[in-house]
Amino acid sequence: MSLCMDIWKSVFQEKISVVSHKDSWNLMCNTSLEPSGEQYRQHIFARFSCRSCGRSWASAQVLVLFHMKLKSRRGTVKMRPFKQRCKFCRAGFEEPEFELANVEIALNNLILRIRQQFYGEDVEDEIQAVVVDVGLQGPHESSLCEACQRGVCHRRPSGRKPCIETPTLRSEVPPKALPCSYCFIVLFVVCLILYVQYFFP
Ligand SMILES: [Zn+2]
Ligand SMILES: [Zn+2]
Repeated sequence: MSLCMDIWKSVFQEKISVVSHKDSWNLMCNTSLEPSGEQYRQHIFARFSCRSCGRSWASAQVLVLFHMKLKSRRGTVKMRPFKQRCKFCRAGFEEPEFELANVEIALNNLILRIRQQFYGEDVEDEIQAVVVDVGLQGPHESSLCEACQRGVCHRRPSGRKPCIETPTLRSEVPPKALPCSYCFIVLFVVCLILYVQYFFP
């Protein structure tokens, strides 16, 4: 499957046409798009399958870069989804396959960003997180991620902490019950009184 999936283009056209600006916009895939500070980034859930061993896996940390430009009423969006490598056979990098629901959300966010950046609209509150629909296991392995290899995967631009693939569930572990020192004092006093009464009646 090609990275330049038609679905991205057609959904983009459908959504951008509703935005009533007189500019024409186009989305294209560019697998050699170099990361830079001005790009819009999204981490999107996607599936991969290995062409060598046939195994498949999913990741919620698939980085997609979007580079937007508007010149003479013609807008261009270049996108680059980053690949991942199979952890079992470590063959070549595989291209991500996105589900339609996630393509829709990612493109909604992208278009909000375009409206904000090029048309000065206030849309910050409408940005949505991209859906994760399976229970993912294990940490994100940097050695298997093309974006990590390029040093651009992290959500925090300057962060060195690897991104974690497993959605963390906050577990409500009650704090360990510590023996109350007040109880000990009371117990000690009671014992002392009993001792004194017993031995010194
Ligand atoms: Zn494999
Ligand atoms: Zn990564």
